[in-house]
This record gives sequence, structure tokens and C-alpha cells, in this order.
Amino acid sequence: MNLILLGPPAAGKGTQAQWILRDFDVVHVSTGDMLRKAIADGTELGKLAKPLLDAGKLVPDEIVNGIIQEWLKAADPGKGIVFDGFPRTVAQAKALDEMMAAVGRRIDTVLSIQVTEATVVERIGGRWSCPKDGAVYHATNRPPRETGKCDRCGEALIQRDDDKPEKIVERYRQYLEKTMPLADYYASKGCLLTLDGTRDAQVVYDELNAALKAI
Ligand code: AMP
Repeated sequence: MNLILLGPPAAGKGTQAQWILRDFDVVHVSTGDMLRKAIADGTELGKLAKPLLDAGKLVPDEIVNGIIQEWLKAADPGKGIVFDGFPRTVAQAKALDEMMAAVGRRIDTVLSIQVTEATVVERIGGRWSCPKDGAVYHATNRPPRETGKCDRCGEALIQRDDDKPEKIVERYRQYLEKTMPLADYYASKGCLLTLDGTRDAQVVYDELNAALKAI
């Protein structure tokens, strides 16, 4: 089972991905996580990507396509895949179709999680994460036990550069302009499932889980 999680920042893709990983025999791949790791490691890719991530802009298609192509070659063929944050443009989606075909796979379902701009701003604006272990908190929805400190390792929490309020609006704009057209692309292939992501994450997951089990 190969899936794509589609949705604007803060639609809850990361949470849904974790639960899918818990319940299905799949591995998770996030181009955002890979790019942040490249930046933290100070690689050439990281140096190129950093200003784009900081500005809330997309990294060029050829670069993310290359990252996914390499990753796919090494992926365990016995397990399904959850793509999170990729593809983000129609050009990336077309490249993914070709890359998947080349390794004898195909995308089965695209889960499009829809939220409003107001929800995105409210959710991201309060998001804090641990720079050490990646744990994510929210000022009102999921506060850490001790303000400003990671529950798991005690590290001081930070607000991701691209989660700062002035960047959120740009990330959402990029989503509307470049990623939203993917819904039509996959709808025309008959594999799009749209979910209302403004609801509680568990409610969204129950619907998603039932749909995946029915495949
Ligand atoms: P994410 O964690 O998925 O929200 O990604 C964070 C940032 O990484 C995005 O705002 C983009 O700058 C960059 N990025 C991640 N995935 C892609 C992609 N598929 N195409 C272009 N840029 C990406």
C-alpha cells in the first residue's frame, strides 16, 4: 500500500503518518525532514535549501525529485510507503509516477487533508519543537509539562524558523498555488480521498483508517 499525505502545513499530516505507521506495514518518508537534516548536517544540499525553507518557499523540483529517487532505490520493497510533503507540485507528482513505475510500484491512495487558512495560522503559530529529538508541542493544544522544555529530554524548545507567523502565510500561499492542483491531478486518476482536517485528529484518523482497511 503506497500512500501520499497531501495538505497545507499544520493539516495534521505528521500525526496521521505516525498512526498509519503504527497500524500498517509501511515506512514514512518526509522531504521536509530530509531537508532539515541536510541543513543541520551542513551539507551542500542543506546550504542550498536553508534560505528557501527559511522563506517558506519550495525547493526546486529537480532537487526533491532526486532525493526521492535515491531514497526509493534503497527502500524495502516488502513494505508500503507513506509520502509526507512530497509531491508538492504537479511536476513532482508526474516524476513520482515515473519513479514508482521504474521500481514496479504505484500510488494507491492520496489522502488530502483539508484545513482553512485560519486553522493553519492558529495551529502553526503555537507550535514549538525540540531541536534534539524532534518532539512537537502546541502552546494550547499540547503544552509541554514544563513551559519551554521538552518532556522527553528537557531540551529548550524552539519555534522552527518557517513556523514563525510571517512565514506561515507564505507557506500557505505556496500550498494554494502549487500543491492544491495536485488534488485534481489525483482525482482524475480516481485515487483521491478528501478528509476534513479541521476536526479532532483522532476523528480524522478513524475515517482514514476505515478507508485504508477497505482498500
Ligand atoms: P514540511 O516539513 O513538509 O512542511 O517542509 C518544510 C519545507 O521544506 C517546505 O516549506 C519547503 O521549503 C521544503 N520542502 C519540503 N518538501 C518539499 C517538496 N516536496 N518540494 C519542495 N520543497 C519542499
